[in-house]
Amino acid sequence: MAQKDINPYIYSDSNKRYLTYDRYMKMRFGGKVAKVPLDIGCTCPNIDGSAGYGGCIYCKNGSSSAIGKTIDEQYQNGVNVMNRKWNNVGYIPYFQSNSNTYGSLAHLEKSYFEAAGLKNALMVDIATRADCISQEVLDILERLSEKIPVTVELGLQTSNDKTADIINRCHSYEDFVKGYYLLDNLRNRINADIHNDGEPYSFVKKRFTLCIHIINGLPGEMREDMLKTVSDAAKLNPDMIKIHMLHILKGTRIADLYLRNEFKLLDKEEYVSITCDQIELLPPECVVARVTGDGLEDDLIAPLWTRRKTQVANDIDKELFRRNSYQGINHNIM
Ligand code: SF4
Repeated sequence: MAQKDINPYIYSDSNKRYLTYDRYMKMRFGGKVAKVPLDIGCTCPNIDGSAGYGGCIYCKNGSSSAIGKTIDEQYQNGVNVMNRKWNNVGYIPYFQSNSNTYGSLAHLEKSYFEAAGLKNALMVDIATRADCISQEVLDILERLSEKIPVTVELGLQTSNDKTADIINRCHSYEDFVKGYYLLDNLRNRINADIHNDGEPYSFVKKRFTLCIHIINGLPGEMREDMLKTVSDAAKLNPDMIKIHMLHILKGTRIADLYLRNEFKLLDKEEYVSITCDQIELLPPECVVARVTGDGLEDDLIAPLWTRRKTQVANDIDKELFRRNSYQGINHNIM
C-alpha cells in the first residue's frame, strides 16, 4: 500500500503529512500558483534608524536587480521565468523586499492596487514587520481585500526576547503581538461570513490571511526555545507559517559571529527533528508554506545542506512517517 493511502492527515492528497502551500493553492484555485517577487523600494525601520540601525544581523541588504523597473516589468519578467518551469494557473504578486507597509501611504496604495490589476494575479501578498501596521495601512488593506484576496506576512523569527536582542530585531514579542492583533481584527471582520459557515474546508475561501515567519537555529536557542516560538505562533492562529533554517550569508554581521565560532548551526538531522516537532504543534489547518529556507543564494556560507531543499523536505516526510505522526497531532499540548 502506498504511503498516501495510509496517510492519517486529513488535508493531504499525497504522502505529505502537513498542509503544503501547493496543496492549499490547489484547493483554493484548482492548480499550481506561483509567487512573483516585487520590489517597490521600501526600506525598514530597523535599517533607517526609526527602530534601529544596520538591520537584523542575518539580513542581507543590498541593491536589488528590480531597481528602476516598474511593477508591470518586474511581474512580466517573473512570469516569463515561471512559465518556463511550470504550467501555472495564476500568479501572486509578492511584495517581498524589506517592510512593505512602511513608506508613503500614497506609494503603498498605488503599488498594491497596481499589483491587484495585473494579468492573472489571483491574490496579493505583502511581507512586512508587525511594528509597521498603522490604522491608515489597515484601511488600505481593507479596501484592497474588496478587490482581490490579500495575505500579509510578518517576520517573527523567535518569540524569545533575549534572542531578539542578539539578532537586533529591535521590537519585542509584545510589540509583535500588538501589530498582529491589529491585522487579526481586520482578518476577523473581512472573513466574518466565512468563519461562520461551518464547512471543513472553508478556510480556503478567506479574503484576508496572515502568515508568520520563524527561523530555527538562531544563536543561543535550544530546541525548547524553537518549540516555544512555534507554540506561541500557533496560539495566534495564523493561516500560514513559514519555517526557515538560519542562513549565514556573506557580508552579514552574523557571518562574523559564525566565522569566529561564537555559535553552532543545527545539522540537518537536528533541523528535521525540530521541524517535525513544530509541525506536530501547529493547528491542522494552518498552511505550512515552507519547511526550509531557500539555500540557493550565491553568497551562502552555511549551512550548505540547505542547498538540497528537496532532500530536507523528503527527510521531514520520512521522519513524520517513521513517527506515524502528522500536523496538529500535538496541537494544544504546550
Ligand atoms: S526586519 Fe526584515 S528587512 Fe528589516 S532588517 Fe530585519 S530582516 Fe531585514
